[in-house]
Amino acid sequence: MDIQILGAHNCESQKLRLISLLIDEVLAIDAGSLTSSLSFEAQQKLKAVLLTHEHYDHIRDVPAISMNFYLENATINIYATQPVYDALSTYLLNGELYPKFLEKPENKPTIRFTIIEPGKSEQIAGYSILALPVNHPVPTVGYQVTSPDGKAVFYTGDSGPGLTDCWKHISPQLLIAEVTASDRFKEAAGNGGHLTPTLLKQELITFRELKGYLPRVITVHMSPGLEAEIKTEIATVAAALNSPITLAYEGMRLHL
Ligand SMILES: [Zn+2]
Ligand SMILES: [Zn+2]
Repeated sequence: MDIQILGAHNCESQKLRLISLLIDEVLAIDAGSLTSSLSFEAQQKLKAVLLTHEHYDHIRDVPAISMNFYLENATINIYATQPVYDALSTYLLNGELYPKFLEKPENKPTIRFTIIEPGKSEQIAGYSILALPVNHPVPTVGYQVTSPDGKAVFYTGDSGPGLTDCWKHISPQLLIAEVTASDRFKEAAGNGGHLTPTLLKQELITFRELKGYLPRVITVHMSPGLEAEIKTEIATVAAALNSPITLAYEGMRLHL
């Protein structure tokens, strides 16, 4: 399994991108930077796009990539829970802000949208996909993606503390976890459905108690202004747990 971090942040600038992951060039998770990171050719290779939740930094490029597919007379396969479909059809692809790509063209809509059910494993684009609810102000799922050769990665999406129920159902070799803020914002971040290095540490301790191991951990969704602090604090957590944890960056590639 080849994993590319297209966007590693919760804010965008010339050099930083909103959150998007790409697996084996065919499976994307979250659409914060699908069009801004991928050539037209690379976009057309996508077999499926999984969305964790409706927040703008995770769905930003859905309208843009839909227009690209529409002009190619192609169909893009998007998977998410019902609330994400409702938000896209109500606010963005509503015929006013942008075309109704979820419904049009009538005989073959540009977006083939499939509602996924949390807790139910599904085969998508050749991968076994398990969506699991996480803790965030709007309905949000994390995804475990397992390849045919048994390699597995879990991406938390945006989530605050309380991942124990998730941990029970997964056994990834790689954990891609959100760490949005540094520890001086621990309380606000936790209450707002996000993690800081110390909050992640507590989740990882629980993981190790339950599963008897820790996967390699990559952090994403960092606030750029807090990244230097997060990096220092994550190094302390990694040392305390004696396990590798590193910050993701745009263009990072990992192999499982
Ligand atoms: Zn969010
Ligand atoms: Zn976010």
